Amino acid sequence: MASRPLFLLGLGLLPGLLCGMALLPCYQPSPCSPRYVFLCVSRRQERDLARRLKTTWGEALTRRYRVLQTGDAVSTVTAAHQAVCQLYQYRLQGQAVVLDTEELWAYFLPTGDLYVSAGCVKGLDGQQVQWLVGHLLAHMHLRHAQENMGYSHLAAVIVAWLHRNNHHTTERFGNYLVRYTHWTAGQEDEADQYALSLVPVPAAGKPLCMRGLTEC
Ligand SMILES: [Zn+2]
Repeated sequence: MASRPLFLLGLGLLPGLLCGMALLPCYQPSPCSPRYVFLCVSRRQERDLARRLKTTWGEALTRRYRVLQTGDAVSTVTAAHQAVCQLYQYRLQGQAVVLDTEELWAYFLPTGDLYVSAGCVKGLDGQQVQWLVGHLLAHMHLRHAQENMGYSHLAAVIVAWLHRNNHHTTERFGNYLVRYTHWTAGQEDEADQYALSLVPVPAAGKPLCMRGLTEC
């Protein structure tokens, strides 16, 4: 009879054990620090989500602000975006979109698409814009948005993933890519470090810290 409580205990622990085994491959070493990070979405899934996100969030953004077609900001950002994407280890096919607003923000989606406000690149030269793009790409590459998701958000993401063909849940699932962008000081340093490895160091002067360039 003594084996019955043990059997029940084992039965109770089994779901936890199975969940733990299923989630274990999601823990991966960070390329920038000795810690392990929980990455619940693969790069392929991220790109797929980002593509859908472009048609919802991206289009809403371009309805809200005018998309700049010509001008110094557009040519500088386009050149910097192309240069940085070529330096990146994975092939990215996105485009750079410069929006006509003085607000300071910029997002780099896993598809390679860059959305940046004109205010964010105002007064920056080509090299500085390359640094900015490299830094934003670093946040995406290091998957800082995923790291910043709390458990409740994670649960929402998993539920959304299970219903991924449902338009509303897919939108919610994809939104984490642009919503959880309140980076920690450590993440900013990591992004600076990664940008340094990607974008050549300027011939003169010490590397710029991205936090000095923009609030994003
Ligand atoms: Zn940053």
